Amino acid sequence: MDFCNRFFYNYNFTLMDRNKSKRKVIDCRDLPDVNGCTLRISGKEKEVLTAAIRHSVEEHGHKYTAELKKQLKELLKDE
Ligand SMILES: [Zn+2]
Repeated sequence: MDFCNRFFYNYNFTLMDRNKSKRKVIDCRDLPDVNGCTLRISGKEKEVLTAAIRHSVEEHGHKYTAELKKQLKELLKDE
């Protein structure tokens, strides 16, 4: 492998790693008003948010509001 190929080879791996680390995570243990729920959702931001909203409404009895969506978005962390 010459220098150029090696450079692009490494570069592609760096890009792959970066895409992987773009996964976001929400942890129910970060929520102040959750009793004993230890659910952790990870994936792409949009997926996590959708799942977290559904989970909050169905399991934690929250109302689906723009405020809830905003709160959950703030809890998103890089995986
Ligand atoms: Zn939960």
